[in-house]
Amino acid sequence: MTNRPWLKHYPEEIPHELEYQNEPLQYSLKRTAEKYPDHCAIHFMGKELTYKELYESVLCFANYLQKIGIEKGDRVAIMLPNTPQAVISFYGILFAGGIVVQTNPMYTERELAFQMQDSGAKVIIALDILFPRIKKVEKETNVKHIIVTAIKDFLPFPKNLVYPFIQKKQYGFSVKVAHLGNHHVLSECIKQGVPEETVQTVNYHEDIAILQYTGGTTGFPKGVMLTHENLASNAKMCEAWMYRCKEAGEVVLGALPLFHVYGMTTVLLLSVARGQKMVLIPKPETKTMLKAISEQQVTLFPGAPTMYIGLLNHPELTKYDLSSIDSCISGSAPLPVEVQDQFEKITGGKLVEGYGLTESSPVTHANLLWDGERVKGSIGLPWPDTLAEIRSLETDEALPPGEMGELVVKGPQVMKGYWKRPEDTEQTLRDGWLYTGDIGYMDEEGYFYIVDRKKDVIIAGGFNIYPREIEEVLYEHSAIKETVVVGVPDPYRGETVKAYIVLKDGANVTEDELNTFTRKHLAAFKVPRVYEFRKELPKTTVGKILRRQLVAEERQKLERL
Ligand code: AMP
Repeated sequence: MTNRPWLKHYPEEIPHELEYQNEPLQYSLKRTAEKYPDHCAIHFMGKELTYKELYESVLCFANYLQKIGIEKGDRVAIMLPNTPQAVISFYGILFAGGIVVQTNPMYTERELAFQMQDSGAKVIIALDILFPRIKKVEKETNVKHIIVTAIKDFLPFPKNLVYPFIQKKQYGFSVKVAHLGNHHVLSECIKQGVPEETVQTVNYHEDIAILQYTGGTTGFPKGVMLTHENLASNAKMCEAWMYRCKEAGEVVLGALPLFHVYGMTTVLLLSVARGQKMVLIPKPETKTMLKAISEQQVTLFPGAPTMYIGLLNHPELTKYDLSSIDSCISGSAPLPVEVQDQFEKITGGKLVEGYGLTESSPVTHANLLWDGERVKGSIGLPWPDTLAEIRSLETDEALPPGEMGELVVKGPQVMKGYWKRPEDTEQTLRDGWLYTGDIGYMDEEGYFYIVDRKKDVIIAGGFNIYPREIEEVLYEHSAIKETVVVGVPDPYRGETVKAYIVLKDGANVTEDELNTFTRKHLAAFKVPRVYEFRKELPKTTVGKILRRQLVAEERQKLERL
């Protein structure tokens, strides 16, 4: 049995072991809608949706999905920013028995085509402006239906909706278009009445609820299979950790994208389980966030370090009242201590660092919000029912406190595996332990620290960027002989993408030309911000490019400044 020195720090309000309902993930919406029907579920651009309205829309949509052929286990992709439609789609898919495939609305055709092919999604629900992009790749995929929605398309029904991006002449009527929240589809459903809830047989432990794409430890994005148990238990742990939060009494800032596992759990799943009001922000610009916090009296704000840094540096910060903020968990990248201090001073609330990864639904560690010691610079303590060890990279043995090795975790939130990639699963999940690829240590007290990443994933502005994907695009350029992409330190974004380029003999290309080229194939956040042309790249004896050496060189350069 793993030694658990961290348990002694738990305040008595946090149980060491939790009781789980063992119910499908979507049932928490049903329960909340029955308990708090008139409570506001979503605030979006000045409009509100109650839990009853949300639940009814979800059932109608589930019914619609079943009518167009969605059966148990079918994959349905959502390519939406934070909107009521994203929430309706998410739960609608689950109630219809489908699997949610989370898709980043910033994906280019190439990225989208890959994800649709890999997941085998039959239906995609997307913003109208993304429609032409989806049409371009549709033929290469298994997508049979495209369901679009405009950003303002939600209850109460707007009149005279126009979809300028869908030109009927160009696309004809071959595409099934259902306007979510639009009176046409919903009124039809309502005419028929809210359907009886579909009876589902969900295997809580085995059935996949979500396919969440991530680069994992190597290469191209992989679909992480998160079961009902994985996600429901992580939401339950989160509830236990935030024990002072009042049921149906908190206002949650939904600035983290719901299509990322971190936003999905800490904003969506937690709010729905507890009957909280979510203030959804489709484009998390700093000013919009500040306005939302002060106008809506936000109390909980799960975020990423860049978001807190952005708020603190906004020129009009003092104009806004942020005193309603009570508790914030920061994750996805290290939280600078000065940011934590400043933020707490300005808001009077608590901001603590947590840690997790897609493969663990995502949270495994966090600092204590109240009643107990918070250790700055540490990712905190493992959550209830979560085991954590530091293992030697050489021998795989558990290491004593203070020694550096790979963080491994075990618990009900740990994924079932990677979708259709048994070898990657075997490498990452061993004997129930998830090998995180993060290097760190545990102190004598049971607090954990992350020092470096074993994997080469670049995290810039909270987004995960996979160097190999960018390298593959660059390698398609006729002037490039060799390239390697690394994350270099950046004071604002955490890291930024830098590409080292070796040109073919006699070839010539400018930075601008490379920019234009990469922009065509990659979402903007992945496009390299810095290029360096070299005659050759440092390599190991077997010819592997030494990425780490390049990163170290860059760090040294910065230190000298
Ligand atoms: P993702 O799968 O997108 O959630 O990214 C997970 C990765 O983010 C982890 O493997 C870590 O490398 C990194 N990460 C998350 N939280 C922290 C943190 N508090 N400190 C340092 N790295 C973090």
